[in-house]
Amino acid sequence: MSAAAPPSPVTPSVDFERDGVQHGFLRLPHSRDDSAWGSVLIPISVVKRGTGPTALLTGGNHGDEYEGPIALFELARTLSADQVTGRVIIVPAMNYPAFRAGTRTSPIDKGNLNRAFPGRPDGTITEKVADYFQRFLLPLATIVLDFHSGGRTLDFLPYAAFHALADKRQETACFDAVRAFGAPFAMRMREIDAVGMYDTAAESQGKIFVTTELGGGGTARASTIAIARRGVRNVLTHAGILAGTVAAGSSRWLDMPSDDCFIFAGDDGLVETCLDIGEDVSSGQIVARIHPVGRTGSAPIEHASALDGMLVARHFPGLVKPGDCLAVIGVEQKG
Ligand code: CA
Repeated sequence: MSAAAPPSPVTPSVDFERDGVQHGFLRLPHSRDDSAWGSVLIPISVVKRGTGPTALLTGGNHGDEYEGPIALFELARTLSADQVTGRVIIVPAMNYPAFRAGTRTSPIDKGNLNRAFPGRPDGTITEKVADYFQRFLLPLATIVLDFHSGGRTLDFLPYAAFHALADKRQETACFDAVRAFGAPFAMRMREIDAVGMYDTAAESQGKIFVTTELGGGGTARASTIAIARRGVRNVLTHAGILAGTVAAGSSRWLDMPSDDCFIFAGDDGLVETCLDIGEDVSSGQIVARIHPVGRTGSAPIEHASALDGMLVARHFPGLVKPGDCLAVIGVEQKG
């Protein structure tokens, strides 16, 4: 960073250059009614031995997604320094206030951390967290793994993902890391709204970036936790930080070729999903019906798929509002 850049209000209690295992906090001052000189303490672990690549591992970017935090609190507890070459920085719950509240966004400022990048050192609590990752943690990293799931309102087919990037060498490195993760599915992912995302911040700093969507509905399942647990170790092995060989299963590859992959609700009502996640769908097939609830005798509104593919995500709660994402269609890449 340049000499003119303002300092961050975040103070780490760990030394990123020290060998060994450290468990500490990113301390972010938060003055409030119940704690005049209080702070938000975001748990962080650093496991380092010698020189080598740095992996930055994060969960809880959205506070109601649980595979990442489960896998990363466990990894932080069990990883020893003699197992690693280089450095592993683990933040199991990035948007810690949201994680503690069990909500997607922060209860303090309603900040969606994954739309707050690059953040501001003099902004809201969520913007201050984003700024610290942007200017202090991301620059340390060689490879970045950020765990997501669908949260309370979406449910996903379990996949690891990368984005199409202008720098094809970087894109290939991301692709290789997604393959190493070894989720049942792997996705070349399209974003509705990439501005302000941590993904975009990491990619624009030239990092190898892997994200996931491992399930959702505001919970974690045994099967999706197992995918997270295996995937994080595979990524560390792939990066050369853990010894051994990648224990990956083979993923089925999916693409999101256009914005037609997203189906949005046009009305409110009771949602009937007409097929389950992982099922094939053809162009014109009805994916969901929205049943009006204001009166009896009204026909449901039908939403069809615009392409041949597979249902990879769906709205999770039983009621929808206009503009909600009802379903996402992916297209399998065969051969
Ligand atoms: Ca998410």
